[in-house]
Amino acid sequence: LRNDQIDEWDREAFFHPSTHLAQHARGEAPNRVIRTGSGCHIEDREGTKLLDAFAGLYCVNVGYGRTEIAEAIAEQAKELAYYHAYVGHGTEASITLAKMILDRAPKGMSKVYFGLGGSDANETNVKLIWYYNNILGRPEKKKIISRWRGYHGSGLVTGSLTGLELFHKKFDLPLAQVIHTEAPYYLRRPNKGMSEAEFTAYCVAELEALIEREGPDTIAAFIGEPLMGTGGIVPPPEGYWPAIQEVLDRHDILLVADEVVTGFGRLGSMFGSDHYGIRPDLITIAKGLTSAYAPLSGSIVGDKMWKVLEQGTDENGPIGHGWTYSAHPIGAAAGVANLKLLDELNLIENAGRVGAYLNKALAEAVGDHAHVAEVRGEGMIAAVEFQKDVEAGEFFDPADKVGARISAKLLEQGVIARAMPQGDILGFAPPFCLTESQADEIAGKTAKAVAEVLT
Ligand code: PLP
Repeated sequence: LRNDQIDEWDREAFFHPSTHLAQHARGEAPNRVIRTGSGCHIEDREGTKLLDAFAGLYCVNVGYGRTEIAEAIAEQAKELAYYHAYVGHGTEASITLAKMILDRAPKGMSKVYFGLGGSDANETNVKLIWYYNNILGRPEKKKIISRWRGYHGSGLVTGSLTGLELFHKKFDLPLAQVIHTEAPYYLRRPNKGMSEAEFTAYCVAELEALIEREGPDTIAAFIGEPLMGTGGIVPPPEGYWPAIQEVLDRHDILLVADEVVTGFGRLGSMFGSDHYGIRPDLITIAKGLTSAYAPLSGSIVGDKMWKVLEQGTDENGPIGHGWTYSAHPIGAAAGVANLKLLDELNLIENAGRVGAYLNKALAEAVGDHAHVAEVRGEGMIAAVEFQKDVEAGEFFDPADKVGARISAKLLEQGVIARAMPQGDILGFAPPFCLTESQADEIAGKTAKAVAEVLT
């Protein structure tokens, strides 16, 4: 196919998700058709090679072009492309993968429920939480607390959990059962004089006040990403998770750790829950489970909930929740091959080591720039946030699109970093196979892009 033909069909037929449709129709949106990828690089139809410092949408964790996973997918497709997982059915791949996940999961986890993407896994979590409380005879314990700026998906309930305005406006969201609390975002603390520990205490007090206002008997669960991703790549402030966990335990509120980004190594640990000492009741997994070689997600269900769910079905019959493609064998085969590759190539250890190197290189390259408010991150994830006046804590006018312009300048130099959706924040989450010299390239080109936009 000719490039101009693909171009025409793209505008004619393809409804791009999360896209400014009017700009796209006018030809103002980027138009890039990706053809192939290898390691940390992708290549478009024109042959332009780009260093993908965001691993797709922080998901191609083992890197592009891994033939081991492609072959596992092909073998599974040839042997058995599909069978469902209902009423005791399964495939060798899906059962093996469930076992491999539990072997790697934090302590106290019982079972894995498979879905397709992070959004449907969180949808599953909410239904399991409500089912659980109904079995326990407390149907009024239903509300879910999430954080402003949290990202948990874009469906109706999961878009409600997501604490970003874009996902609410014009959709009549959030739903009434979802309420939001403070984001643990130290740079945006209410007063500059607060220490990190004081800010943690403030977030905890806000949560406690919300619970008291709504009534603990009406609150079923709290959901959070161990390290906030799409909302700005924000590591938790000092002591945050143990303090939050204590409040939740005291009010008998379940904890959902949304590990769609952090699960399977992004922070340099297998799970973010272990990294920060969280003891969740449910864990959401997707992206890094298959490194996006095939769509697959999961809800890892903890012991406490599992016992109740299992007993509940004796009285109520089967759980009325399932997808045709739950535990799809091709996704499962990709997951098995992906987890093996992570182990064999020591990629999680590399994510921790080279990720720390990348964070340091970025801090050295731009940390002292007059408009850089913060360089922050953990493992193989990092962000640079910009302000108009760092001393005064004044942000740029969003209309100036500073973050987006810097990301565009980086792209001109062949590096993909993500302009995060809310704020002037440049996000980095490369594949785990990143090398130190590639980290230097990212940092060097970032400094150049920043200098070009913010002279
Ligand atoms: N949860 C988190 C933490 C995410 O980052 C995402 C996607 O970026 C999701 C859930 C939703 O996953 P999906 O886009 O696969 O539905």
